[in-house]
Amino acid sequence: MELLPDLKLHHPRSVEDAVSLHAAASSGRYLAGGSDLLVNIRRGIEQPESLVYLNNIAEMQAITEATGQISIGGAVTLRELAESAPVRQHFAAVAQAAGEVAGPSHREYGTLGGNLCLDTRCVFYNQSEWWRSANAYCLKNRGEICHVAPGGKKCFAAFSGDVAPALLLFDAEVELAGPDGRRRLALADLYRNDGMDHLTLGQGELLVAVHMAKPSEAVHSAYAKSRVRGSIDFPLAGVAVRIAVSDGKISDLQVGLTGVSPLPFLVRKLDKFIGRAADDACLEELRDAVRGQAKAMKTTFTPPHYRRRVAGALAQKLAASFF
Ligand SMILES: Cc1cc2nc3c(=O)[nH]c(=O)nc-3n(C[C@H](O)[C@H](O)[C@H](O)COP(=O)(O)OP(=O)(O)OC[C@H]3O[C@@H](n4cnc5c(N)ncnc54)[C@H](O)[C@@H]3O)c2cc1C
Ligand code: SF4
Repeated sequence: MELLPDLKLHHPRSVEDAVSLHAAASSGRYLAGGSDLLVNIRRGIEQPESLVYLNNIAEMQAITEATGQISIGGAVTLRELAESAPVRQHFAAVAQAAGEVAGPSHREYGTLGGNLCLDTRCVFYNQSEWWRSANAYCLKNRGEICHVAPGGKKCFAAFSGDVAPALLLFDAEVELAGPDGRRRLALADLYRNDGMDHLTLGQGELLVAVHMAKPSEAVHSAYAKSRVRGSIDFPLAGVAVRIAVSDGKISDLQVGLTGVSPLPFLVRKLDKFIGRAADDACLEELRDAVRGQAKAMKTTFTPPHYRRRVAGALAQKLAASFF
């Protein structure tokens, strides 16, 4: 990797100042923990002139509870999120997912906002400048073909943040601030199925906070991922499950996926499981439903069919733990 180039670094103390500083720069980027962005800069993938540092903004660093609600600032670190008592109590999958990101040192400074806004990944893209140049780059950055699907014009780089699929289980909303003011958006609508342009954020928009309603006490949730290096690695497939079982029957079921497509998403058509007996047949059907929608492409060294199969198996295992 290359050395970091000279960059102008701003230290705003408020969301409004951060947005103004970003708007004033010709090619500025928001910088939180830097564990994704700085790597991409050193690989020559990103070339901003200035960075707007977010971790001195008090509003973005708090986890606050109101009746039935929780709000988590965009600059809350992953360690804080993983250790937060109300998050662990009401949104176990979110705390577990945060605790599974990278290694302990990354979680110390990596943030929720950075995790939700991190770039998509592909084995042909997350490489040094000389490696990519020797391979004629690719569609996502400076090149003309996709090495994963050479016949097409679409990029399949995978969104590989751990926390998003867990937040999707709880219909999380994101609060955004930009040059035109603030707005709220369903987290699901922050993403689009395009590895080259996977975020719907407007120009200069900042993710200020995530808001969620607490689920009923009958709801359980959990997160698990498959990865090459158990101590520190992105998910080959990450699976979040939300489930409630009463009188032996499933009364609530959602499954969120990451690492298998350009966006994190909830598995569709799970309504058919509501009212079904929580038994082995049901678990096997759930496994197959998840596997069928985890359409991983050749964006990692690990083959796609393994990632599809492991996604189904993880969903089956997580759901079984609550039967
Ligand atoms: C070795 C290694 C292993 C990793 N393993 C994992 C893993 O297992 N799982 C995983 O999920 N991630 C992993 N990561 C990626 C990264 O560490 C985490 O995703 C982390 O949460 C990113 O947060 P950050 O604050 O460091 O983001 P940054 O690098 O600061 O920012 C990432 C992107 O988000 C934008 N951004 C940051 N905050 C905001 C905001 N509030 N509003 C709008 N845009 C914003 C930045 O401009 C940038 O584009 C790994 C990284 C490394 C280097
Ligand atoms: S999926 Fe294709 S275009 Fe996208 S990063 Fe990989 S090689 Fe590049």
